[in-house]
Amino acid sequence: MNPTLRKPLIAGNWKMYKTVREAVETARELVQFTAAVNVDVMIAPPFTALAPVADVVKGTSIALGAQNLFWKNEGAYTGEISPVMLSDIGCQYAIIGHSERRQYFGDTDESVNAKIRAALEHQLIPVFCVGETETQREAKETFSVLDKQVTKGLEGFSSESLSRLLVIAYEPVWAIGTGKTATTDQVQEVHAFLRSLVEKRFDNLLAKSVRILYGGSVKPDNVTEIMNMPDVDGALVGGASLSAKVFNSIIHFHH
Ligand code: PEP
Repeated sequence: MNPTLRKPLIAGNWKMYKTVREAVETARELVQFTAAVNVDVMIAPPFTALAPVADVVKGTSIALGAQNLFWKNEGAYTGEISPVMLSDIGCQYAIIGHSERRQYFGDTDESVNAKIRAALEHQLIPVFCVGETETQREAKETFSVLDKQVTKGLEGFSSESLSRLLVIAYEPVWAIGTGKTATTDQVQEVHAFLRSLVEKRFDNLLAKSVRILYGGSVKPDNVTEIMNMPDVDGALVGGASLSAKVFNSIIHFHH
């Protein structure tokens, strides 16, 4: 991590957990814990809790993120949520292309690309998720899979359009919710690869400024060693972000 260039971002993905009451309670606790924090913090509650949680975190050091979006501004798209609606209630980030969405809900590199474009058009910071499955890693396809996901996901964008905004999350599918964490060497190797890929596809400036988060069973007891890797700029945390206390100890990792 190089904090002079890239401010760390610790993001919590609450997935399909928490009623409005539970979400508001957790957000309130987190606000108390994180009054003087020196990293960026984002939480992504389920859609039903976004607006009430927005009220809780307004004016605090916690930013609000959505877990997904649709790429149209409005229309006859039953069940979908638009970037306009998310901006309207104070969302600043949107997680895009999470492996669970790719696996269960048909997200593809093409739809991920459209969602990133829509997010950027509405000043939402895309947290663009990429990652290989266990089979792909075993078949030594990790780098080619990531190359394809990044190249297609970011196709058609200029370096300028991404410069202020892009966050990439490397989430090896085999490490999500499984308790298996990639080793720090595996994480650093992939993060360095992703940064060099951004340089190859765009330029050195974007490569230096893009924040690359690691996600996959991040916990209080492994966050510090992961965050100490030179190309790790933050963490995307699932299970361990559901408790304000546990998430807070991840946010306060030792620099
Ligand atoms: C995630 O869902 O982005 C994630 C990394 O989950 P977990 O921390 O539970 O592995």
